[in-house]
Amino acid sequence: MFPPMRDRESLHSPLHLEPLPSEEPWGGKIAYLDRDGVIIRGFESYVNDTSEVFVLENAANSIGELRRNGFRICIVTNQSPIGRGLWSRENLALIHDKMREELLRSDPDAILDLTLHSPYAPWHNSWARKPNPGMLEAGRQIIDAAHAGKSLKEADIKFGDNWKDRPSESDSVMVGDRNVDIMAASAHGVRSFRCNPDIGISEVISEILEN
Ligand SMILES: [Mg+2]
Repeated sequence: MFPPMRDRESLHSPLHLEPLPSEEPWGGKIAYLDRDGVIIRGFESYVNDTSEVFVLENAANSIGELRRNGFRICIVTNQSPIGRGLWSRENLALIHDKMREELLRSDPDAILDLTLHSPYAPWHNSWARKPNPGMLEAGRQIIDAAHAGKSLKEADIKFGDNWKDRPSESDSVMVGDRNVDIMAASAHGVRSFRCNPDIGISEVISEILEN
């Protein structure tokens, strides 16, 4: 099994959730967000270090808006440079530190509740690599467990046909700029919104919040 990964901790580590801005109880909505071309600028040759992190215009405000409207935020990003041996998971964690810092500077509500990545190359055929839905599946279970105050063991997180009794994702959304994002959303059973990578999430935020 090639499971999804979190920055600097294991997949099943306890997740600390900050309260939602509205302070109303969470209704179960998750916004699954691709990273490159949605939150930060993407490059054909990858985002390779912190100097290449450029938050797209109004991305921070859009994420803040999602949380102000009751969504938990779960980043789901394919990061094959790790599996290709180009750089380390710690490098990715530093890139994510920088991204989080910039988002919060623009909008204090733009908290990324959970950040998942797939470090695998395409030839690993990982269930965690989009277009497969493994990251979304794990994200749902980790956020649900955190809300329930339940601690997870590695084997508690189920994937694919092994995950029975799935909760409804009818109020959740996935935002991506590529076909693999839309396919992962469809495999997980969540509504998807596709944005132009030069604009990012702000292009679709009002459409998401209208629905
Ligand atoms: Mg992308």
